[in-house]
Amino acid sequence: GKIIYNGELKTRSDVKVDIEDRGYQFGDGIYEVIRVYNGEVFASNMHVNRLMDSAKMIQLKVPLTVAEIEALVKELIAEDKLRNGIVYMQLTRGVCSRTHAFPINEVEPVFVAYTKEMPYTGKVKPGVKGVTTDDIRWLRCNIKSLNLLGNILAKQQAVEASCDEAIQHRDGKVTEGSSSNVAIMVNGTLKTHPATNLILNGITRQVMLKLCADNDIPYVEEAFTVEEMMAADEVLYTSTSVEVTPIINIDGQSIANGEPGPITKSLQKLFSEEIERQCGA
Ligand code: PLP
Repeated sequence: GKIIYNGELKTRSDVKVDIEDRGYQFGDGIYEVIRVYNGEVFASNMHVNRLMDSAKMIQLKVPLTVAEIEALVKELIAEDKLRNGIVYMQLTRGVCSRTHAFPINEVEPVFVAYTKEMPYTGKVKPGVKGVTTDDIRWLRCNIKSLNLLGNILAKQQAVEASCDEAIQHRDGKVTEGSSSNVAIMVNGTLKTHPATNLILNGITRQVMLKLCADNDIPYVEEAFTVEEMMAADEVLYTSTSVEVTPIINIDGQSIANGEPGPITKSLQKLFSEEIERQCGA
């Protein structure tokens, strides 16, 4: 595949990362992961706008416009002849002699994007297992920052417990997964953490809430406790890569009867119809 490096299409071996790139040394940058179905970008504008919002929150000046980034992404997909997969993109504060504060002299941010294949079956995903873990991250989780150590340590805990996702909680309240958002269903109402500084406002989460609104599925954006989640009728998680997926077991305990619930299944169906609508997949 090709790489977009600062607005230019290059081959991977021609792209060299500088040892004093601030992304490499400090995680001083931001990123996005965008899904491609049937050669078409899903929720392209929402993702690129979130990249811009993240940039603003770390005072990073993006050298490209939303339209320019969207065009580059399309060019990359065409170049790679990608049908189903993801586009990963990141932007770092650039290269300068190592010092914590921002560079004094203006340096050009470094923008990189590349694609990766990921199959899309269109089939409803079966339920997975989760494990609860303390949310040890900083208080700006709304920024899609390259600093992912907290998320990495949480996901590793899930892997070591033979689970698919770590469900993080802060002060007894569930925040989000290590790389996903979490929602529960109680008496027919979907509940999910509000889009505050404590979570990343997932694009999949936002699309799902819109689908709830359009299809008379009641929802509230309210934090819930670990106890509420364990006693919920249904638990699900969402992200660009897992779409809408049921969580049927947490910390070794079944959620309800241990099968994917009916509302989660409807949301999975609605989500695949939305993919079809946007991408014809
Ligand atoms: N929360 C975190 C911490 C994430 O890393 C991600 C995605 O990777 C999400 C939520 C889900 O976001 P999206 O639906 O935009 O992929």
